Amino acid sequence: MTDSDQSTYDVAVVGGGPAGLTAALYTTRLGHDTAIIDRGVGRAAMMADTHNVIGITEDVSGTELLKTAREQVQDYGATYHRDFVTGIEREGDGFLVESNGAVCEVDRVVLATGFSDERPDPPLPPTGRGLHYCLHCDAYMFVDESVYVMGHGDSAAYVAMIMLNFTDEVDLLLRGDDPTWSDETDRMLRAHPIDVIDEEITGMNKGPDGWLESFEFEDGSVREYRGGFPMYGSEYNNELAADLGCDLNDDGTVVVDDHGRTSVDGVYAVGDLVPGHNQIPVAMGQGAKAGIAIHMDLRAFPRSVEEIEEQGPVDPDEVPAVSQSLRETARAFRDAEAAESAADD
Ligand SMILES: Cc1cc2nc3c(=O)[nH]c(=O)nc-3n(C[C@H](O)[C@H](O)[C@H](O)COP(=O)(O)OP(=O)(O)OC[C@H]3O[C@@H](n4cnc5c(N)ncnc54)[C@H](O)[C@@H]3O)c2cc1C
Repeated sequence: MTDSDQSTYDVAVVGGGPAGLTAALYTTRLGHDTAIIDRGVGRAAMMADTHNVIGITEDVSGTELLKTAREQVQDYGATYHRDFVTGIEREGDGFLVESNGAVCEVDRVVLATGFSDERPDPPLPPTGRGLHYCLHCDAYMFVDESVYVMGHGDSAAYVAMIMLNFTDEVDLLLRGDDPTWSDETDRMLRAHPIDVIDEEITGMNKGPDGWLESFEFEDGSVREYRGGFPMYGSEYNNELAADLGCDLNDDGTVVVDDHGRTSVDGVYAVGDLVPGHNQIPVAMGQGAKAGIAIHMDLRAFPRSVEEIEEQGPVDPDEVPAVSQSLRETARAFRDAEAAESAADD
């Protein structure tokens, strides 16, 4: 944390993908000092094009989307640190968040650390140009195209069968591994028009557009594909959640309620780290819900009857509850908007 002297925030968001940035957008605009601590290079950063996000066209890459989003939240007053969080500890009612040896003190934590896709061994085509990790995003690109699915487990077999909804040319590439799918899956797979190819891949050829054209196999055969999906599982970035004592599901996702609350008071989790569809709009929705839940949890007013009995009525000096720095940013933001619309008139 070298970018700012401030080491106390209302909220720390760990992970600056679509889920974390949306949570931070809400907490900041709802008046809570928020720090985003983000290592970068998450799944959204791997997107060559963006699909399924209404209002964002395909020509926007993941890095462009994230850059705009980071600028947006910082314009509202959030602090962004490019850093790796190494540990989070309970400290009184709040938490100490440690990154690269620096520590910040916060009231609430949002874990938005996502997961990493297990990458198969090369030879492989470029990501987004024949190698695809997101079925709901990219199946549309392969309507009537020749498609492969790599892997040997149930998920690979299922994705191969699902791709028959989009095209009649689907191969399942075992790459020398023995199938580990269940007997039931095996029965289903045999009843679908899918070629299961045993041999390992020995070469990959690209077309002039940079997209995959074909794979070469160790038996000397060459098969043409436009693209496909490797299905070797996901590694959840759940160490911080586990260390904090958050309940985890068997697959490694963090257990949350409908507002992103984990089993540990004050700790929220959103995005690919939690169960659900791994999609940007879903991650954003979860970030929004957690941000609003945190606001409802932290906001100072209205003071309840019990609080009024304990602390007395609200003194005019106590309002508004927003910190001085966020107030100044909000006023400057509003003034800039007003100046811009006056210039447009
Ligand atoms: C190649 C590819 C293409 C895709 N295309 C689409 C698409 O077109 N449309 C769509 O809707 N979805 C798409 N997806 C899915 C989408 O990218 C994810 O669902 C989405 O990014 C999830 O957001 P997230 O914020 O949970 O995680 P991520 O985007 O993965 O962000 C997590 C962030 O947390 C950071 N982090 C992790 N641990 C720490 C730590 N300890 N300290 C600090 N930072 C940490 C990571 O570095 C990363 O920056 C695609 C996925 C891939 C892999």
